[in-house]
Amino acid sequence: MSIRKEDLVVVITGKDKAKTGKVLRVFPQSGRAIVEGLHLVKRHMRRRAQDEPGGIVEKESPMHISNILLFCRRCNVGSRIGKKEIKGGERVRFCRRCGEVIGK
Ligand SMILES: [Zn+2]
Repeated sequence: MSIRKEDLVVVITGKDKAKTGKVLRVFPQSGRAIVEGLHLVKRHMRRRAQDEPGGIVEKESPMHISNILLFCRRCNVGSRIGKKEIKGGERVRFCRRCGEVIGK
């Protein structure tokens, strides 16, 4: 998985194309991620209390990571990510476009 929690990503396809958001959760087994405020689906909520508003609530649903790219702040676009080893054997991710190290 090249996408991690807390990453800033950009959507490259679908109705949220070109929108950016923060990754809230990743599902490595299904190759999906939940991105804050994106890929919303309407859910019908049952009212639990008399004074609580029920009805339709929009909630993020997981999207496949092939539909998102990590956002490079230096390039100001979504970019493909490479992995490399730096001094000390630590592996980091970097932007293939500008070479900027993005983090672990
Ligand atoms: Zn870059």
